[in-house]
Amino acid sequence: MNALLEDGRLLPLVEDFYTIQGEGFHAGKPAYFIRLGGCDVGCSWCDSKNSWNPRLFPPVSVEEIILRAVSHPAKSIVITGGEPLSYPLGPLCKALKAHGMEIFIETSGSHPLSGTLDWICLSPKQNKPPLPEIYPLAHELKVIITGPLDLEWAEYNRRKVSPGCRLFLQPEWSRREAVLPHIVSYAKANPVWNISLQIHKYMHIP
Ligand code: SF4
Repeated sequence: MNALLEDGRLLPLVEDFYTIQGEGFHAGKPAYFIRLGGCDVGCSWCDSKNSWNPRLFPPVSVEEIILRAVSHPAKSIVITGGEPLSYPLGPLCKALKAHGMEIFIETSGSHPLSGTLDWICLSPKQNKPPLPEIYPLAHELKVIITGPLDLEWAEYNRRKVSPGCRLFLQPEWSRREAVLPHIVSYAKANPVWNISLQIHKYMHIP
C-alpha cells in the first residue's frame, strides 16, 4: 500500500456528499458523508459493492476532502465505506476536528480503531467479526437482519457492548418485506432493541 495511504494523509475516496443520515440513532440528521473505498468483509447483500476495490479510487488528500466537507452548513460528518477503518483516520479526523466537526463512523469493527471519533456505530458482520476492543467503545450497535437466524447474531453482539450502547435491528433492504414482521415481533418481545429503517431510501436521497 502507498505510504501516504498507510499514514492516512491520502485516502481512496469513493464519494462525498451532503445528505440526511438515514439509519440508526442519528436518522434524520443532516450530515456530510465521506465514503472511503476498500472492504474485505464481503457481505453478499452489500449495497456499496462498488466501494470494495480501493484501487478503483485514486487517493485524495485529506486537505481536498476537508475543503468540501466544511463548505456545507452541517457540522456533522459521517465516515463510511467500504470499511473506513481499513485506513488510519487520524489525519482526517484531526483536520475535521480543527473545523469543529462532530465525527460519526459506520464500521464493521473488523479493523483497528483510529482517529478521534464522537460516535461509533458498530455494524458487526459474521463474515469478519469485530475486533474485541471495539465493543466497549461502540455508542450504537446496528445489526443487519436478513432472516430470523440473524437475531441470534444480534444477541451475541449485544452481550459484548457496554450497557449504554443503543441497540438497533435493521432489515436488509432487499428482504425488508419478509424480515420486518420478525423484527417487529422480536423488538416488542425484547424492548431493549429499537428498529432502524433506511429512511434515505424511502426519501430517494443518497
Ligand atoms: S462491511 Fe459494509 S461495505 Fe463491507 S461488504 Fe459488508 S456491508 Fe458492504
